[in-house]
Formats: sequence, structure tokens, C-alpha cells
Amino acid sequence: MNHFDKLRPFVDYDFCGCGELQRLLLVHALADNPIHCFQCKGIIDPQRLGLTKDQVDLVVAWHRQFRALYDLWLDSGEYESWAKFQLLDPNGQVNRSGIAAALSLTRLLPTYYWWFHDEGDQIPRNCPDCYKVLSPASRHGHGECLDYQIVI
Ligand SMILES: [Zn+2]
Ligand SMILES: [Zn+2]
Repeated sequence: MNHFDKLRPFVDYDFCGCGELQRLLLVHALADNPIHCFQCKGIIDPQRLGLTKDQVDLVVAWHRQFRALYDLWLDSGEYESWAKFQLLDPNGQVNRSGIAAALSLTRLLPTYYWWFHDEGDQIPRNCPDCYKVLSPASRHGHGECLDYQIVI
């Protein structure tokens, strides 16, 4: 990325090319669409999944909140610690929205929600939502909660 790119649209989408989808992953990866293939992490167009308007709206609502907080955290300014607290709070709106969106997509395919983790912090051992010990990561992050379909 050069400095001009910061003021240009982010268009470098890597779409999923898998023949058969098995699991989905909701993760903010700087693109406008946070629905990814769990296997290859490519973006999946909502039309391919045949999402309903309600499903799209849930994903958009969560992603707007997450992105706004993530940007404030990344900015490292006055709002950094406030934004991080919101991103980590299991009862906060952003995570409740994320879980709701993932649950809704799970009606189509098991959908995992990628929980925020500051890589400067200790590696998480427990699920941030149900506090059970995490299962080893099968593909992403540090671990997975299989009960609540969370990746962290
Ligand atoms: Zn894929
Ligand atoms: Zn859990």
C-alpha cells in the first residue's frame, strides 16, 4: 500500500473459489463485505448465498459497528482504549450484533464469528463469550469455541 491508496477505494477483493462451501466466517478484513469462506478466507458474494434482506441487514449492522470501533482502536488516539473495551465486551452491542448475524447465517451454513483480539495482549485460553477453554484453532486465530462458533 502506498500513501495514495489510503484515499482510494479498497477494491482488492479476494473472492472464494471453493467448489463447495462448508463453513462461513464473519470477520472484518478491511473490505466492505465481511462474509468469508472459513476454508480459504476468500470473500463470498451475498448473492451466491442467496441471503435474505434481513440477513444482509444484520451483517451490515454488525459490520458498521465493528469497523467504526476497529478504526478508532487502530487510530491509537484518544478513543483507542474506549474502542478496545467495546470490542472486547461480551455484552456490548457490537458483539451481540455479531453473534446475531452469525446465528442468522448459520441457518444456511455454520458461521463462525471472529472475536476481536489485540495481538499485544496475552493469547486467549478461554472463550470470551462462554468462558469455556478454547479448542485448538482449526484454521484461524488462536482457538475456537465450537459451542458458540467463535474464533479468536
Ligand atoms: Zn473458499
Ligand atoms: Zn464459547
